[in-house]
Amino acid sequence: MIERPNSKAIDRKRRLALPHADPPIRDAEERARDFDEAYGEWDLDAARAEAERCIQCPAAPCVKACPVENDILYALWLLEHGEVEDAASVFRATSSMPEVCGRVCPQTELCEGACVYAKQGRPPVAIGRLEAFVADRAPRPPLESPRRTGHRAAVVGAGPAGLTVAEHLARRGHEVSVFDAWPAGGGILRYGIPSFKMAHSLVQDQVDWLAGGGVSFVFDTFVGRDLTVDDLFDQGFETVFLGIGAGVPRTPSIEGSELPGVHQATPFLVRANVEEELRPAEMRDPVGVGRRVAVVGGGDTAMDCLRTALRLGAQEVTCWYRRTEQEMPGNERDRTLARQEGASFEWLAQPVRLISGPHGRVGAMECIRMRLGESDASGRRRPVEIPGSGFEVQVDTVVLALGYLADRDTVARVSDLDVDDRSLITIDAESGRTSREGLFAGGDAVLGPALVVTAVEHGRRAAEAMHRYMTARGAGVPAGWSS
Ligand code: SF4
Repeated sequence: MIERPNSKAIDRKRRLALPHADPPIRDAEERARDFDEAYGEWDLDAARAEAERCIQCPAAPCVKACPVENDILYALWLLEHGEVEDAASVFRATSSMPEVCGRVCPQTELCEGACVYAKQGRPPVAIGRLEAFVADRAPRPPLESPRRTGHRAAVVGAGPAGLTVAEHLARRGHEVSVFDAWPAGGGILRYGIPSFKMAHSLVQDQVDWLAGGGVSFVFDTFVGRDLTVDDLFDQGFETVFLGIGAGVPRTPSIEGSELPGVHQATPFLVRANVEEELRPAEMRDPVGVGRRVAVVGGGDTAMDCLRTALRLGAQEVTCWYRRTEQEMPGNERDRTLARQEGASFEWLAQPVRLISGPHGRVGAMECIRMRLGESDASGRRRPVEIPGSGFEVQVDTVVLALGYLADRDTVARVSDLDVDDRSLITIDAESGRTSREGLFAGGDAVLGPALVVTAVEHGRRAAEAMHRYMTARGAGVPAGWSS
């Protein structure tokens, strides 16, 4: 591997003058007709040229802004010199999922937002797409462990946190079993993120790679209903990781939300975009949309639903949001892509009633206009109803994408587990340790709906602590094993 550059030898003035080329993306009209990835293939020369724009800042603000602290500067230096595999291994040293994070991180709020170019109002180095580029071209080395320790760990939830824990424990020679309620692995990566943002084959590759390294998977098994955490300990697992996410939809009290043609975001996305045999039985029916689709909500999931509705053939797809774009919680890049593909936005409007149309399906939506009032606890200005501003719009399909909550029922079934008033699991931040002996947790189940990369970071830390926990117990550790 070539060495890091001598910072003093970098000609920053020359680099700052290099041109930026946007990562290739398919034409909006073309990409809105299929579920293939929206971004196209970069060629090596273009990727190297973009990597060369990095001025190797000694302060590395991008690294500090990355939740897993990827060594971005070194990886881009290696890519600039054509060392694609080495660049990928630098990303893999700190992240279990560079091909995923490079695609789905909200980079404008993380690494790229901190880039000096962005601070100057210029396009930042396309760190995320470069990370995905090198990871795609450098297959993961086989998951091998020098020896078997005899220790057994269970992971509940095959999402980003759980898969990260499984990788790190398997690498250390522990026996790992992953349980998940869905019929296949990936959690939110497969059942939440549409394939036009990230090909689902990447998730399957990761699950297959872990299985090839000895990790066993048990799908269609809901821990908390089919099996309890106590059962797992009784089965001889010494430690358990809860990576159950926060996937319970926030259900609004909108009259008419039970009408045919009204969908919750997750089943809508799953039915539209996951292969039939990998869907749970209750989501096997394909989903159709009418001509006019209303998506209610303003986060990333709402953008995914807008773009999905367009791909399903809807002609008018509108996002209804009760504040303005400035207060929207989602990623700006996703909003731009949705707009390019044909979605429109209706700000400061709130649906209050869904009205039955011909054939008993939803046919119209009654809304009211809002204005912005004082700031609320989140720092965003609160939407306030404008009296007498009600109006009606015709719709054929409504998708409710109003956010997610923790799974209150599941955590309530775990004995001796401390949770907060939102049913988020309380952990020790350094180790992921919960209030219950041997039980660890991380990701959205702890933070509420957050980022894939944060779940990866939680998983890495928890795996380290679970390894220490098991080896400290002594039994099953072969002679010579060092923690
Ligand atoms: Fe940026 Fe996310 Fe990659 Fe970190 S993991 S470098 S934040 S894209």
